[in-house]
Amino acid sequence: MLDPLPPHPFAKHVLRPVASLDLLFNLKPTSEPLFPHAEQLAHLLTCSHQPYVLQPFKRYVIQPSNLYAGVLCPHCSRVVMHYFHRTWHCPTCGKPDASAPVRVLEDYARLFAPYIRLNELVAFLKLPDRFAARRFVKKFNFETADKWVKLPVN
Ligand SMILES: [Zn+2]
Repeated sequence: MLDPLPPHPFAKHVLRPVASLDLLFNLKPTSEPLFPHAEQLAHLLTCSHQPYVLQPFKRYVIQPSNLYAGVLCPHCSRVVMHYFHRTWHCPTCGKPDASAPVRVLEDYARLFAPYIRLNELVAFLKLPDRFAARRFVKKFNFETADKWVKLPVN
């Protein structure tokens, strides 16, 4: 017959909480709540809950005019890409990337608002004109309403 294993050096730390749980499970239900102010606390938490509003310009004291417009090359991360032949091309590495502006618009949505006007889209992405902006919106199936475009938010 094999000798029993010696107890684990931390066995007493593990066994004590398990014994405490057994004690809790064996408690008889009473009419008095375990935490008398739990309901009041839950009500206060529910009433105080509100969505977190990201305000990076206010928090980091940045002016929106200090931001650079345009689509940065995801490969170089320094160079603004040029739009021609219906896609973006990097003037340094020469790589085209049609989805690069989508990431830029996700940043725009986080910084400003989840909606953008077509003329703002032209300026922010440095598109040649509003017709290119409309083709861009149609290509990526962005929702539109009048002159507004709903941006992707991740
Ligand atoms: Zn590049």
